[in-house]
Amino acid sequence: MPWRNFSLPRLCKIAANRKTSGKPTLRPIDTLMERLDGLQGKASHFMARCPAHDDQRPSLSITEKDDGTLLLHCFAGCGAGDVVAAIGLSLSDLYPDRPHEHHGQPIRTRDRWNARALLLTLRAEATLVQIAASDLANGKTLSPADTERLHVAAQRIARVCEIAT
Ligand SMILES: [Zn+2]
Repeated sequence: MPWRNFSLPRLCKIAANRKTSGKPTLRPIDTLMERLDGLQGKASHFMARCPAHDDQRPSLSITEKDDGTLLLHCFAGCGAGDVVAAIGLSLSDLYPDRPHEHHGQPIRTRDRWNARALLLTLRAEATLVQIAASDLANGKTLSPADTERLHVAAQRIARVCEIAT
């Protein structure tokens, strides 16, 4: 699972879910649901508009197996690798991080995992701030885009601190 790609809303969701239920909520299907359009279906089978081709109606079939693994099939013929690449994921994102004992059953390691995700976010954002600080110290000016990104970093760090308390 690529930690660096975690959006802040997602981290907040992890933290919120952890507080209320303590159950594992971050499954491959959650990752996909956030990124696909026109998702419909229930239980373990979904249809969505395929991100890998110009899809007018849902032709991407998504099946969630008991262990959380996702099976993708585009009826227009796109490969699973192309589908996940089109939404910024890789094939490994179709597999759960760790074997699920059973749907909805708590997984002990999940608590540690959440903390790790938050820490890694902090580390990534702190590194970015460090680079910006170093540039400024060396007399460089930050581009508007860099400045904007720096504000985002500050907000994320503040938000992670909020979540952590
Ligand atoms: Zn397709």
